[in-house]
Amino acid sequence: MQKKQKKTGLVWFGNDLRVQDNAVLEKAILENERLIGVYCLDPLLFKKSNFGFQKLGVHRLQFLLESLTDLKQNLLQKNISLLFFLDTAENTIPAICKAYNICSIYKQQEWTHEECLEKKQVQSKLNHIEIVEFYNQFLYHPNDILSDPQKIPNVFSNFRKKVEKYVKIQPTLVIGKTFEKDNLVSKRTPIPSLKELGFEDLEIDSRTAFPFSGGETAALKRLNDYFFKTKQLGFYKKTRNGLLGTEYSSKFSPWLANGSISARTIYWHVKKFEQEHYKNQSTYWLIFELIWRDYFKYVSMKFGNDIFQIDGILKKKYEWNRDADTIKNWIEGKTSDNFVNANMIELKRTGWMSNRGRQNVASFFAKELELDWRIGAAYFEEKLIDYDVHSNYGNWMYVSGVGNDPRDRKFNTQLQAERYDASQKFRNLWLQPSLF
Ligand SMILES: Cc1cc2nc3c(=O)[nH]c(=O)nc-3n(C[C@H](O)[C@H](O)[C@H](O)COP(=O)(O)OP(=O)(O)OC[C@H]3O[C@@H](n4cnc5c(N)ncnc54)[C@H](O)[C@@H]3O)c2cc1C
Repeated sequence: MQKKQKKTGLVWFGNDLRVQDNAVLEKAILENERLIGVYCLDPLLFKKSNFGFQKLGVHRLQFLLESLTDLKQNLLQKNISLLFFLDTAENTIPAICKAYNICSIYKQQEWTHEECLEKKQVQSKLNHIEIVEFYNQFLYHPNDILSDPQKIPNVFSNFRKKVEKYVKIQPTLVIGKTFEKDNLVSKRTPIPSLKELGFEDLEIDSRTAFPFSGGETAALKRLNDYFFKTKQLGFYKKTRNGLLGTEYSSKFSPWLANGSISARTIYWHVKKFEQEHYKNQSTYWLIFELIWRDYFKYVSMKFGNDIFQIDGILKKKYEWNRDADTIKNWIEGKTSDNFVNANMIELKRTGWMSNRGRQNVASFFAKELELDWRIGAAYFEEKLIDYDVHSNYGNWMYVSGVGNDPRDRKFNTQLQAERYDASQKFRNLWLQPSLF
């Protein structure tokens, strides 16, 4: 008698590289007798795009490889294999489905253009296998607030006040089930090193404000350190505009961006801190900032491809300049403004820049140099280790006067430098040539 095939699922990992509080993984684990994980790194991400930048630069790539290595390890604890491919999802997923008799594919739901296209291409090559998707990246779950994205307010405070008043944040998911050892597949697809992908090894700049590694384990350690060990959370509102060192802000964004940690996990740990220690403006403000993150996701849902258009979601016309030398000077930290320069050098050397720095360099780019803001955003996309399509394009539009800022402000970068870098420590750190 023929042995009955076990129901086998596939988790197509994207920006949800975690085991804890992962709705996609939970569903897949519960609904299948066998399960494998797949991650596809599309080589096209290394090619130069429209404005001459890669979609994925070396700092974020290094962080991603660390995140995948950690995920692989954590999945192994549940006897789930993670297969890695340097190829498009379109080439990879259908072939894996065939090889392993996959019944269902599980993935995080995305809505931006390139991600939707990628899914469509994969789906077109699958016979009778459905791709099931789940929102897995929000603090406020879309099912709890959304009947129609068009109703999302265009002003952040209106959004925030409503969700804070009417919506409960869902609890985090705990996945108890572990598969038997025979769930592991024999195929070996190790996570490559930078060198194996054709990049030079990354030289870590000792001045970096983000000396952390990628992956869920490092994210949870940071959470524990920042909240419960140093209790910096309790001072967050006072320090969040800082520029130097690891402690002025949470530094959660790179892990949030690739999904190594969920916003809900952070939220419930803030609540735990408030219960065990105290509640103050700082503990609230971290949640306030996470609501900004959600908001830009809802904005991109509402406006679709408008977030990538020069007139933005406001459809506001300005004269934009595209002078190559002016752009190059901004990138290289060679403008007339040494506060902008210091921040730009930090970004280039480390893949990190503070929120204060980002606001200033973006405002200088769009409002002082009057350069096409999409070029600045594309440069950030290559460089930032925490690049997130919604937050990046949402913030760039906001600062450039084509987004959600009702006041359309321009930063006075000189005054900002005097206020936030009065001692010039930050500028001195980045404007002096490094010894090593
Ligand atoms: C021009 C520009 C581009 C940006 N591009 C990105 C990007 O690609 N990816 C990204 O994650 N953030 C981006 N931001 C937002 C913000 O600068 C970073 O989220 C923040 O600096 C990350 O540091 P942190 O984790 O220590 O933040 P904290 O101050 O500790 O805040 C906690 C979390 O709240 C969220 N958050 C805070 N500020 C914002 C904000 N303004 N918008 C959205 N979410 C926010 C982040 O998830 C952050 O991790 C951009 C801001 C500007 C002005």
